[in-house]
Amino acid sequence: TKDDVKSYLVRNAFVLFTIIAVIVGIILGFCLRPYKMSYREVKYFSFPGELLMRMLQMLVLPLIISSLVTGTAALDSKASGKMGMRAIVYYMSTTIIAVIIGIIIVVIIHPGKGTKENMHREGKIMQVTAADAFLDLIRNMFPPNLVEACFKQFKTNYDKRIFRVAIPPNETSVVASVINNVSEAMETLTRMKEEVIPVPGAVNGVNALGLVVFSISFGLVIGNMKEQGQPLRHFFDSLNEAIMRLVALIMWYAPVGIMFLIAGKIVEMEDMGVIGGQLAMYTVTVIIGLLIHAIIVLPLLYFLVVRKNPWVFIGGLLQALITALGTSSSSATLPITFKCLEENNGVDKRITRFVLPVGATINMDGTALYEALAAIFIAQVNNFELNFGQIITISITATAASIGAAGIPQAGLVTMVIVLTSVGLPTEDITLIIAVDWFLDRLRTTTNVLGDSIGAGIVEHLSRNELKNRDAEMGNSVIEE
Ligand code: ASP
Repeated sequence: TKDDVKSYLVRNAFVLFTIIAVIVGIILGFCLRPYKMSYREVKYFSFPGELLMRMLQMLVLPLIISSLVTGTAALDSKASGKMGMRAIVYYMSTTIIAVIIGIIIVVIIHPGKGTKENMHREGKIMQVTAADAFLDLIRNMFPPNLVEACFKQFKTNYDKRIFRVAIPPNETSVVASVINNVSEAMETLTRMKEEVIPVPGAVNGVNALGLVVFSISFGLVIGNMKEQGQPLRHFFDSLNEAIMRLVALIMWYAPVGIMFLIAGKIVEMEDMGVIGGQLAMYTVTVIIGLLIHAIIVLPLLYFLVVRKNPWVFIGGLLQALITALGTSSSSATLPITFKCLEENNGVDKRITRFVLPVGATINMDGTALYEALAAIFIAQVNNFELNFGQIITISITATAASIGAAGIPQAGLVTMVIVLTSVGLPTEDITLIIAVDWFLDRLRTTTNVLGDSIGAGIVEHLSRNELKNRDAEMGNSVIEE
Protein backbone atom coordinates (compact mmCIF):
# COMPACT_ATOMS: atom_id res chain seq x y z
CA THR A 1 0.00 0.00 0.00
CA LYS A 2 0.88 3.65 -0.18
CA ASP A 3 1.59 3.79 3.53
CA ASP A 4 3.95 0.87 3.31
CA VAL A 5 5.85 2.53 0.49
CA LYS A 6 6.05 5.72 2.50
CA SER A 7 7.34 4.04 5.62
CA TYR A 8 9.82 2.07 3.53
CA LEU A 9 11.17 5.27 2.01
CA VAL A 10 11.35 7.05 5.35
CA ARG A 11 13.17 4.13 6.89
CA ASN A 12 15.72 3.97 4.13
CA ALA A 13 16.14 7.72 4.16
CA PHE A 14 17.08 7.46 7.83
CA VAL A 15 19.68 4.84 7.17
CA LEU A 16 21.02 6.77 4.21
CA PHE A 17 21.26 10.01 6.21
CA THR A 18 22.99 8.18 9.01
CA ILE A 19 25.57 6.65 6.71
CA ILE A 20 26.17 10.01 5.04
CA ALA A 21 26.54 11.54 8.50
CA VAL A 22 29.26 9.09 9.40
CA ILE A 23 31.17 9.74 6.19
CA VAL A 24 30.84 13.53 6.45
CA GLY A 25 31.80 13.32 10.13
CA ILE A 26 34.99 11.45 9.32
CA ILE A 27 35.95 13.80 6.49
CA LEU A 28 35.14 16.89 8.54
CA GLY A 29 37.11 15.55 11.47
CA PHE A 30 40.24 14.94 9.41
CA CYS A 31 39.92 18.30 7.65
CA LEU A 32 39.76 20.13 10.97
CA ARG A 33 42.53 18.21 12.69
CA PRO A 34 45.39 20.32 11.31
CA TYR A 35 43.89 23.37 13.05
CA LYS A 36 44.79 21.86 16.43
CA MET A 37 41.73 23.09 18.27
CA SER A 38 42.01 23.53 21.99
CA TYR A 39 40.09 21.18 24.24
CA ARG A 40 37.48 23.82 24.86
CA GLU A 41 37.00 24.48 21.16
CA VAL A 42 36.58 20.79 20.52
CA LYS A 43 33.90 20.66 23.19
CA TYR A 44 32.07 23.55 21.56
CA PHE A 45 32.40 21.92 18.19
CA SER A 46 31.07 18.58 19.45
CA PHE A 47 28.15 20.25 21.18
CA PRO A 48 25.47 19.01 18.73
CA GLY A 49 26.77 15.50 19.37
CA GLU A 50 26.66 15.95 23.10
CA LEU A 51 23.03 17.02 22.73
CA LEU A 52 22.20 13.78 20.95
CA MET A 53 23.77 11.80 23.79
CA ARG A 54 21.73 13.72 26.30
CA MET A 55 18.47 13.32 24.40
CA LEU A 56 18.94 9.59 24.09
CA GLN A 57 19.98 9.19 27.69
CA MET A 58 16.96 11.24 28.72
CA LEU A 59 14.69 8.57 27.30
CA VAL A 60 16.54 5.56 28.62
CA LEU A 61 15.15 5.62 32.11
CA PRO A 62 11.41 5.83 31.31
CA LEU A 63 11.99 3.48 28.40
CA ILE A 64 13.61 0.75 30.49
CA ILE A 65 10.95 0.95 33.16
CA SER A 66 7.89 1.19 30.94
CA SER A 67 9.01 -1.41 28.45
CA LEU A 68 9.96 -3.97 31.08
CA VAL A 69 6.83 -3.46 33.11
CA THR A 70 4.55 -3.75 30.07
CA GLY A 71 6.68 -6.47 28.54
CA THR A 72 6.38 -8.72 31.55
CA ALA A 73 2.80 -7.72 32.39
CA ALA A 74 1.75 -8.71 28.87
CA LEU A 75 2.79 -12.30 29.45
CA ASP A 76 1.70 -14.77 32.04
CA SER A 77 4.43 -15.53 34.49
CA LYS A 78 5.07 -18.97 33.03
CA ALA A 79 5.64 -17.57 29.56
CA SER A 80 7.85 -14.78 30.81
CA GLY A 81 9.77 -17.29 32.89
CA LYS A 82 10.44 -19.37 29.81
CA MET A 83 11.41 -16.38 27.72
CA GLY A 84 13.59 -15.09 30.49
CA MET A 85 15.37 -18.44 30.66
CA ARG A 86 15.93 -18.47 26.92
CA ALA A 87 17.29 -14.96 27.01
CA ILE A 88 19.63 -15.79 29.88
CA VAL A 89 20.87 -18.94 28.17
CA TYR A 90 21.51 -16.95 25.00
CA TYR A 91 23.28 -14.17 26.90
CA MET A 92 25.49 -16.51 28.84
CA SER A 93 26.43 -18.72 25.93
CA THR A 94 27.22 -15.89 23.53
CA THR A 95 29.20 -14.07 26.20
CA ILE A 96 31.23 -17.18 26.92
CA ILE A 97 31.83 -17.76 23.20
CA ALA A 98 33.01 -14.15 22.95
CA VAL A 99 35.41 -14.61 25.83
CA ILE A 100 36.82 -17.76 24.29
CA ILE A 101 37.32 -16.02 20.95
CA GLY A 102 39.10 -13.19 22.73
CA ILE A 103 41.42 -15.58 24.52
CA ILE A 104 42.23 -17.67 21.46
CA ILE A 105 42.90 -14.65 19.26
CA VAL A 106 45.19 -12.93 21.74
CA VAL A 107 47.11 -16.11 22.40
CA ILE A 108 47.59 -16.79 18.69
CA ILE A 109 48.47 -13.25 17.63
CA HIS A 110 50.39 -12.53 20.80
CA PRO A 111 50.51 -8.72 20.50
CA GLY A 112 52.30 -8.20 23.84
CA LYS A 113 56.05 -8.54 23.51
CA GLY A 114 57.13 -8.99 27.10
CA THR A 115 58.14 -5.40 27.64
CA LYS A 116 56.49 -2.20 28.68
CA GLU A 117 59.30 -0.10 27.34
CA ASN A 118 58.24 2.46 24.79
CA MET A 119 54.65 2.08 25.87
CA HIS A 120 52.75 5.22 26.55
CA ARG A 121 51.07 5.56 29.93
CA GLU A 122 48.37 7.81 31.24
CA GLY A 123 47.29 8.35 34.83
CA LYS A 124 46.78 6.01 37.74
CA ILE A 125 44.42 3.22 38.66
CA MET A 126 43.24 2.00 42.04
CA GLN A 127 42.48 -1.53 43.20
CA VAL A 128 39.09 -3.17 43.47
CA THR A 129 38.85 -6.77 44.58
CA ALA A 130 36.65 -9.22 42.72
CA ALA A 131 34.69 -9.96 45.89
CA ASP A 132 33.89 -6.30 46.44
CA ALA A 133 32.83 -5.90 42.86
CA PHE A 134 30.70 -9.03 42.93
CA LEU A 135 28.89 -8.02 46.09
CA ASP A 136 28.28 -4.62 44.59
CA LEU A 137 26.79 -6.18 41.51
CA ILE A 138 24.29 -8.06 43.66
CA ARG A 139 23.76 -5.09 45.92
CA ASN A 140 22.90 -2.93 42.94
CA MET A 141 20.13 -5.31 41.98
CA PHE A 142 18.24 -4.12 45.01
CA PRO A 143 18.39 -0.35 45.17
CA PRO A 144 17.19 0.78 48.59
CA ASN A 145 15.84 3.95 47.10
CA LEU A 146 14.20 3.79 43.70
CA VAL A 147 14.32 7.49 43.11
CA GLU A 148 18.01 7.58 43.81
CA ALA A 149 18.54 4.56 41.56
CA CYS A 150 17.25 6.71 38.73
CA PHE A 151 20.21 9.02 38.90
CA LYS A 152 22.98 7.20 40.66
CA GLN A 153 25.01 4.49 39.10
CA PHE A 154 26.69 2.89 42.05
CA LYS A 155 26.28 3.89 45.61
CA THR A 156 28.90 1.57 47.02
CA ASN A 157 32.59 1.22 47.41
CA TYR A 158 32.83 0.20 43.79
CA ASP A 159 31.85 3.72 42.88
CA LYS A 160 35.00 4.23 40.93
CA ARG A 161 35.29 5.07 37.31
CA ILE A 162 37.99 6.19 35.05
CA PHE A 163 37.66 9.82 34.37
CA ARG A 164 39.35 11.60 31.59
CA VAL A 165 39.95 15.26 31.81
CA ALA A 166 41.95 17.52 29.65
CA ILE A 167 44.03 20.36 30.81
CA PRO A 168 43.73 23.44 28.72
CA PRO A 169 45.08 25.82 27.65
CA ASN A 170 46.91 24.28 24.75
CA GLU A 171 48.03 21.31 26.78
CA THR A 172 47.00 18.26 24.87
CA SER A 173 47.86 15.84 27.64
CA VAL A 174 45.02 13.89 29.08
CA VAL A 175 44.92 12.73 32.66
CA ALA A 176 43.06 9.58 33.49
CA SER A 177 42.47 8.60 37.02
CA VAL A 178 40.04 6.50 38.94
CA ILE A 179 38.07 8.63 41.28
CA ASN A 180 34.95 8.38 43.30
CA ASN A 181 32.80 10.98 41.70
CA VAL A 182 32.65 14.11 39.66
CA SER A 183 33.09 16.44 42.58
CA GLU A 184 36.20 14.60 43.65
CA ALA A 185 37.55 15.01 40.14
CA MET A 186 36.84 18.69 40.24
CA GLU A 187 38.53 18.98 43.59
CA THR A 188 41.61 17.04 42.62
CA LEU A 189 42.11 19.03 39.51
CA THR A 190 41.31 22.33 41.12
CA ARG A 191 43.98 21.49 43.61
CA MET A 192 46.26 21.03 40.66
CA LYS A 193 45.10 24.48 39.57
CA GLU A 194 43.89 23.20 36.28
CA GLU A 195 40.68 23.72 34.49
CA VAL A 196 38.45 20.69 34.30
CA ILE A 197 36.00 19.73 31.65
CA PRO A 198 34.46 16.35 32.26
CA VAL A 199 34.03 14.23 29.18
CA PRO A 200 30.33 13.83 28.45
CA GLY A 201 29.13 10.33 29.05
CA ALA A 202 31.91 9.47 31.42
CA VAL A 203 29.72 10.87 34.14
CA ASN A 204 27.29 8.73 36.10
CA GLY A 205 24.22 7.21 34.54
CA VAL A 206 21.44 5.33 36.26
CA ASN A 207 21.52 2.11 38.23
CA ALA A 208 20.02 0.21 35.32
CA LEU A 209 20.47 -3.20 36.90
CA GLY A 210 18.45 -2.23 39.96
CA LEU A 211 15.71 -0.74 37.83
CA VAL A 212 15.62 -3.80 35.59
CA VAL A 213 15.15 -6.12 38.56
CA PHE A 214 12.48 -3.90 40.04
CA SER A 215 10.59 -3.41 36.78
CA ILE A 216 10.50 -7.10 35.96
CA SER A 217 9.17 -7.98 39.40
CA PHE A 218 6.68 -5.16 39.23
CA GLY A 219 5.50 -6.21 35.77
CA LEU A 220 5.13 -9.83 36.82
CA VAL A 221 3.00 -8.84 39.76
CA ILE A 222 0.82 -6.59 37.62
CA GLY A 223 0.47 -9.37 35.06
CA ASN A 224 -0.91 -11.68 37.74
CA MET A 225 -3.29 -9.10 39.13
CA LYS A 226 -5.98 -9.39 36.44
CA GLU A 227 -8.65 -6.67 36.89
CA GLN A 228 -6.92 -4.69 39.59
CA GLY A 229 -3.76 -4.47 37.56
CA GLN A 230 -5.42 -2.89 34.54
CA PRO A 231 -4.90 0.79 35.41
CA LEU A 232 -1.18 0.27 35.96
CA ARG A 233 -0.87 -1.79 32.83
CA HIS A 234 -2.58 0.90 30.80
CA PHE A 235 -0.47 3.57 32.40
CA PHE A 236 2.84 1.91 31.56
CA ASP A 237 1.61 0.92 28.11
CA SER A 238 0.72 4.45 27.33
CA LEU A 239 3.94 5.78 28.84
CA ASN A 240 5.90 3.38 26.68
CA GLU A 241 4.05 4.42 23.56
CA ALA A 242 4.64 8.09 24.31
CA ILE A 243 8.35 7.53 24.83
CA MET A 244 8.62 5.64 21.57
CA ARG A 245 7.05 8.62 19.82
CA LEU A 246 9.71 10.83 21.31
CA VAL A 247 12.30 8.39 20.01
CA ALA A 248 10.81 8.81 16.55
CA LEU A 249 11.38 12.55 16.84
CA ILE A 250 14.96 12.16 18.00
CA MET A 251 15.66 9.88 15.05
CA TRP A 252 15.42 12.93 12.82
CA TYR A 253 18.15 14.64 14.76
CA ALA A 254 20.33 11.56 15.18
CA PRO A 255 22.34 11.88 11.94
CA VAL A 256 23.38 15.44 12.83
CA GLY A 257 24.39 14.39 16.31
CA ILE A 258 26.31 11.36 15.08
CA MET A 259 28.16 13.47 12.54
CA PHE A 260 29.42 15.84 15.23
CA LEU A 261 30.18 13.07 17.69
CA ILE A 262 32.41 11.38 15.15
CA ALA A 263 33.99 14.55 13.77
CA GLY A 264 34.65 15.85 17.29
CA LYS A 265 36.32 12.62 18.32
CA ILE A 266 38.56 12.59 15.28
CA VAL A 267 39.57 16.18 15.89
CA GLU A 268 40.50 15.53 19.50
CA MET A 269 42.08 12.10 19.27
CA GLU A 270 45.71 11.89 20.20
CA ASP A 271 48.30 11.65 17.50
CA MET A 272 48.99 8.17 16.35
CA GLY A 273 52.55 8.80 17.52
CA VAL A 274 51.81 7.55 21.02
CA ILE A 275 50.55 4.29 19.63
CA GLY A 276 53.62 2.14 19.47
CA GLY A 277 53.99 -1.20 17.74
CA GLN A 278 52.59 -3.30 20.54
CA LEU A 279 49.55 -1.14 21.02
CA ALA A 280 48.91 -1.13 17.28
CA MET A 281 49.08 -4.94 17.21
CA TYR A 282 46.81 -5.04 20.21
CA THR A 283 44.27 -2.83 18.45
CA VAL A 284 44.32 -5.05 15.40
CA THR A 285 43.89 -8.14 17.58
CA VAL A 286 40.82 -6.66 19.27
CA ILE A 287 39.34 -5.69 15.91
CA ILE A 288 39.83 -9.20 14.55
CA GLY A 289 38.28 -10.75 17.65
CA LEU A 290 35.25 -8.48 17.56
CA LEU A 291 34.80 -9.03 13.84
CA ILE A 292 34.86 -12.81 14.22
CA HIS A 293 32.17 -12.57 16.86
CA ALA A 294 30.05 -9.98 15.08
CA ILE A 295 30.19 -11.14 11.49
CA ILE A 296 30.68 -14.88 11.85
CA VAL A 297 29.49 -16.21 15.19
CA LEU A 298 26.36 -14.13 15.81
CA PRO A 299 24.99 -14.27 12.24
CA LEU A 300 25.69 -18.00 12.10
CA LEU A 301 23.87 -18.54 15.36
CA TYR A 302 20.92 -16.55 14.07
CA PHE A 303 20.88 -18.57 10.91
CA LEU A 304 21.12 -21.90 12.71
CA VAL A 305 18.29 -21.11 15.09
CA VAL A 306 15.93 -18.91 13.09
CA ARG A 307 16.73 -20.27 9.61
CA LYS A 308 16.44 -16.87 8.01
CA ASN A 309 19.00 -14.66 6.33
CA PRO A 310 20.93 -12.97 9.14
CA TRP A 311 22.13 -10.19 6.86
CA VAL A 312 18.63 -9.01 6.18
CA PHE A 313 18.10 -8.86 9.93
CA ILE A 314 21.37 -7.03 10.49
CA GLY A 315 20.53 -4.65 7.64
CA GLY A 316 17.48 -3.57 9.59
CA LEU A 317 19.70 -2.77 12.54
CA LEU A 318 22.09 -0.47 10.71
CA GLN A 319 20.92 2.68 12.33
CA ALA A 320 21.25 1.26 15.82
CA LEU A 321 24.70 -0.10 15.04
CA ILE A 322 25.88 3.25 13.72
CA THR A 323 24.42 5.01 16.75
CA ALA A 324 26.35 2.62 18.96
CA LEU A 325 29.49 3.45 17.02
CA GLY A 326 28.82 7.16 17.41
CA THR A 327 27.82 7.23 21.07
CA SER A 328 29.87 4.30 22.44
CA SER A 329 27.02 3.62 24.79
CA SER A 330 24.67 0.70 24.44
CA SER A 331 22.19 2.19 26.84
CA ALA A 332 22.06 5.49 24.97
CA THR A 333 21.52 3.45 21.80
CA LEU A 334 18.68 1.47 23.36
CA PRO A 335 15.85 3.70 22.08
CA ILE A 336 17.12 3.35 18.51
CA THR A 337 17.62 -0.39 18.93
CA PHE A 338 13.95 -0.67 19.88
CA LYS A 339 12.87 1.25 16.80
CA CYS A 340 15.01 -0.79 14.43
CA LEU A 341 13.94 -4.14 15.81
CA GLU A 342 10.25 -3.37 16.00
CA GLU A 343 9.81 -1.36 12.85
CA ASN A 344 12.42 -2.66 10.44
CA ASN A 345 12.62 -6.25 11.57
CA GLY A 346 9.08 -6.66 12.86
CA VAL A 347 10.14 -8.32 16.10
CA ASP A 348 7.18 -8.77 18.45
CA LYS A 349 6.93 -5.93 20.94
CA ARG A 350 6.36 -8.31 23.81
CA ILE A 351 9.79 -9.70 23.09
CA THR A 352 11.69 -6.47 22.55
CA ARG A 353 10.15 -4.86 25.61
CA PHE A 354 11.07 -7.76 27.77
CA VAL A 355 14.43 -8.74 26.35
CA LEU A 356 16.13 -5.57 25.12
CA PRO A 357 16.44 -3.57 28.34
CA VAL A 358 17.87 -6.60 30.09
CA GLY A 359 20.25 -7.24 27.21
CA ALA A 360 21.48 -3.66 27.13
CA THR A 361 22.22 -3.89 30.83
CA ILE A 362 23.82 -7.28 31.26
CA ASN A 363 24.61 -8.78 27.86
CA MET A 364 27.85 -7.36 26.52
CA ASP A 365 29.63 -9.77 24.24
CA GLY A 366 32.03 -7.16 22.91
CA THR A 367 33.00 -6.03 26.38
CA ALA A 368 33.52 -9.58 27.62
CA LEU A 369 35.72 -10.43 24.64
CA TYR A 370 37.63 -7.22 25.16
CA GLU A 371 38.24 -7.69 28.85
CA ALA A 372 39.61 -11.20 28.51
CA LEU A 373 41.76 -10.21 25.57
CA ALA A 374 43.07 -7.08 27.27
CA ALA A 375 43.91 -8.91 30.48
CA ILE A 376 45.96 -11.47 28.61
CA PHE A 377 47.64 -8.74 26.61
CA ILE A 378 48.66 -7.08 29.86
CA ALA A 379 49.99 -10.41 31.06
CA GLN A 380 52.00 -10.67 27.86
CA VAL A 381 53.63 -7.28 28.17
CA ASN A 382 54.54 -8.17 31.76
CA ASN A 383 56.06 -11.50 30.73
CA PHE A 384 53.60 -13.06 33.11
CA GLU A 385 53.01 -16.74 32.31
CA LEU A 386 49.35 -17.55 32.85
CA ASN A 387 48.52 -21.12 33.80
CA PHE A 388 45.32 -22.83 32.73
CA GLY A 389 43.57 -22.09 36.00
CA GLN A 390 44.34 -18.41 35.65
CA ILE A 391 42.97 -18.37 32.13
CA ILE A 392 39.75 -19.91 33.45
CA THR A 393 39.69 -17.26 36.18
CA ILE A 394 40.06 -14.59 33.53
CA SER A 395 37.17 -16.03 31.53
CA ILE A 396 34.90 -16.08 34.54
CA THR A 397 35.80 -12.63 35.79
CA ALA A 398 35.63 -11.18 32.27
CA THR A 399 32.11 -12.53 31.96
CA ALA A 400 31.19 -11.09 35.35
CA ALA A 401 32.87 -7.80 34.54
CA SER A 402 30.90 -7.48 31.31
CA ILE A 403 27.67 -8.09 33.22
CA GLY A 404 28.66 -5.49 35.75
CA ALA A 405 29.75 -2.90 33.20
CA ALA A 406 27.19 -0.19 32.65
CA GLY A 407 26.19 0.57 29.07
CA ILE A 408 28.04 3.85 29.10
CA PRO A 409 31.25 4.93 27.38
CA GLN A 410 34.39 3.17 28.57
CA ALA A 411 32.67 1.37 31.41
CA GLY A 412 34.47 -1.79 30.35
CA LEU A 413 37.80 -0.22 31.06
CA VAL A 414 36.77 0.34 34.65
CA THR A 415 35.41 -3.12 35.34
CA MET A 416 38.64 -4.54 33.95
CA VAL A 417 40.21 -3.80 37.28
CA ILE A 418 38.33 -6.85 38.58
CA VAL A 419 39.75 -9.13 35.92
CA LEU A 420 43.32 -8.00 36.48
CA THR A 421 43.06 -8.18 40.26
CA SER A 422 41.71 -11.73 40.12
CA VAL A 423 44.93 -13.09 38.65
CA GLY A 424 47.31 -10.65 40.28
CA LEU A 425 48.14 -8.56 37.25
CA PRO A 426 49.09 -4.92 37.84
CA THR A 427 45.93 -2.86 37.54
CA GLU A 428 47.85 0.28 36.73
CA ASP A 429 48.69 -1.31 33.40
CA ILE A 430 45.19 -0.42 32.26
CA THR A 431 46.80 2.93 31.61
CA LEU A 432 48.82 1.32 28.83
CA ILE A 433 45.72 0.76 26.74
CA ILE A 434 43.78 3.94 27.54
CA ALA A 435 45.08 5.71 24.45
CA VAL A 436 43.14 3.45 22.09
CA ASP A 437 40.16 2.75 24.29
CA TRP A 438 37.92 5.46 22.87
CA PHE A 439 38.11 3.70 19.54
CA LEU A 440 37.90 0.09 20.71
CA ASP A 441 35.03 1.08 23.01
CA ARG A 442 32.99 2.10 19.99
CA LEU A 443 33.60 -1.22 18.31
CA ARG A 444 32.77 -3.30 21.34
CA THR A 445 29.64 -1.24 21.98
CA THR A 446 28.51 -1.96 18.42
CA THR A 447 29.14 -5.66 19.04
CA ASN A 448 27.18 -5.41 22.29
CA VAL A 449 24.18 -3.88 20.54
CA LEU A 450 24.35 -6.47 17.78
CA GLY A 451 24.40 -9.26 20.36
CA ASP A 452 21.34 -7.87 22.15
CA SER A 453 19.44 -7.47 18.89
CA ILE A 454 20.21 -10.91 17.52
CA GLY A 455 19.23 -12.23 20.94
CA ALA A 456 15.82 -10.60 20.57
CA GLY A 457 15.39 -12.25 17.15
CA ILE A 458 16.40 -15.65 18.48
CA VAL A 459 14.26 -15.47 21.62
CA GLU A 460 11.28 -14.39 19.51
CA HIS A 461 11.72 -17.37 17.25
CA LEU A 462 12.06 -19.79 20.16
CA SER A 463 9.06 -18.27 21.91
CA ARG A 464 6.68 -18.28 18.97
CA ASN A 465 4.42 -20.89 20.58
CA GLU A 466 4.00 -18.95 23.79
CA LEU A 467 3.24 -15.81 21.83
CA LYS A 468 0.65 -17.59 19.72
CA ASN A 469 -1.02 -19.14 22.74
CA ARG A 470 -1.14 -15.81 24.44
CA ASP A 471 -2.70 -14.20 21.37
CA ALA A 472 -5.35 -16.88 21.27
CA GLU A 473 -6.00 -16.40 24.97
CA MET A 474 -6.31 -12.67 24.85
CA GLY A 475 -8.21 -12.42 21.60
CA ASN A 476 -5.23 -10.37 20.52
CA SER A 477 -2.50 -9.03 22.68
CA VAL A 478 -2.89 -6.32 25.28
CA ILE A 479 -0.27 -4.38 23.48
CA GLU A 480 -1.76 -2.55 20.57
CA GLU A 481 0.35 -3.12 17.51
N1 ASP B 1 30.67 1.29 26.15
C1 ASP B 1 30.21 -0.05 26.28
C2 ASP B 1 28.73 -0.11 26.12
O1 ASP B 1 28.05 0.84 26.35
C3 ASP B 1 30.61 -0.68 27.55
C4 ASP B 1 32.09 -0.84 27.55
O2 ASP B 1 32.80 0.09 27.90
O3 ASP B 1 32.57 -1.92 27.17
O4 ASP B 1 28.19 -1.12 25.75
